[in-house]
Amino acid sequence: MLVVLVVIAVVVFLAVAGSGGYFLVTRRRPGPGAEAPPSLRQAPARPATPGRPPAAPARPVRPARPEVEAGPEEGQEEGEGAPAGAVPDLATPPAPPPAPAKPARTDAGPAPQLLDKPRFRDRLGRARELLATQLSGFRGRSKLDQQAWDELEEALILADVGVKTATDLLGQLKQRAREDSLTTPGQLVGALRDQLVGRLEGDRELHRAEAGATTVWLFVGVNGVGKTTTIGKVAMQERASGRKAVMAAGDTFRAAAADQLQLWSERTGAGFVRGNEGGDPGAVVFDAVQHASARGIPLVLADTAGRLHTKVNLMEELKKVRRVADRPPGSVTEVLLVIDATTGQNGLVQARQFTEAVGVTGVVLTKLDGTAKGGIAVAIAGELGIPIKLVGLGEGPEDLVGFDAEEFVDALLPKETAA
Ligand code: GDP
Repeated sequence: MLVVLVVIAVVVFLAVAGSGGYFLVTRRRPGPGAEAPPSLRQAPARPATPGRPPAAPARPVRPARPEVEAGPEEGQEEGEGAPAGAVPDLATPPAPPPAPAKPARTDAGPAPQLLDKPRFRDRLGRARELLATQLSGFRGRSKLDQQAWDELEEALILADVGVKTATDLLGQLKQRAREDSLTTPGQLVGALRDQLVGRLEGDRELHRAEAGATTVWLFVGVNGVGKTTTIGKVAMQERASGRKAVMAAGDTFRAAAADQLQLWSERTGAGFVRGNEGGDPGAVVFDAVQHASARGIPLVLADTAGRLHTKVNLMEELKKVRRVADRPPGSVTEVLLVIDATTGQNGLVQARQFTEAVGVTGVVLTKLDGTAKGGIAVAIAGELGIPIKLVGLGEGPEDLVGFDAEEFVDALLPKETAA
């Protein structure tokens, strides 16, 4: 009788488990004919459960009760975390009993080889040309009269440093000109270089959590700025440096965003966690942290939604995602605001909203290769007081570089022309 009941229970469980729902996906699906790697979507052939008495010979194998491997319900506050009915995670096959650390399923074999990273100087040609053209009138002046100052101000504004920053810069330059007795436009461009470098300096480090915690880097910003691409590039670079990462598809609003991120995960060998379309993004990030933590993977790269038409909800949602991601073992050490350099001063307005809502720790300035208005970097650093940590210089995986104030300013205003 007991045996019959157990068999019925197993059949019912398997039927429910196959019905879909919230799921975790690890990297790489096997190609046709390839041997399937262990995946959370497919029930792996389960090893004999350690510590349990072996099943009686002629009995069907008894599957373990599904254990919630990455269950958002643990320690969950009301109204946060998993969507109703998402856990226990029935779409995830039963996990082994409290894990003796499994070999990480996200190991994609050899680390990808990246091409050399681009240099600012090579990718900021358009911005350099614009600034050079704008400054040519100023440089041609024989003395620093009011007209010369006006021309300099105009050049800075046209390069997109913003009116406020341009005015500040000019004030400081006038003082410096007085103190150091600068009299020629060439000398002043040299002083401008120093001012720009000073304003752009800042904490460039991407911080990681203490040992034992899972670092979470949240990527926020409006749609289209390059969040997904940046996460892909970061994952690629982490892998190339021999480190593993898990991506969390926290933009549950757009299935295409999760699909795009999944492609990057397959390309980079990073782990990948996604939820249902319209599901709770906090739950996805929470699951990603659990997934990473259970496998000793130190870093979660979390994408978030960026729809602007529901701004208030979006900001509330982001705050919640941040709170959930910060629950141990998760530790949010970076909230990176991705800004598209080609959107100019608009990017700054968006940046303020995100900064107020989620405490941005750094900026990723994308598409600098595609804009002539490199001055936006100065406006961001100056007006928001947030350091630019990474810069996108193209669409390839290697086209993401750490920000370097000196190199950046040199690319815009080469030293040799500042004499
Ligand atoms: P998301 O909506 O914020 O996730 O934006 P995506 O990551 O989908 O990027 C939007 C578009 O910008 C894509 O076509 C990317 O290839 C492109 N993109 C992202 N970063 C850069 C960059 O640094 N340079 C250039 N030229 N294109 C970029």
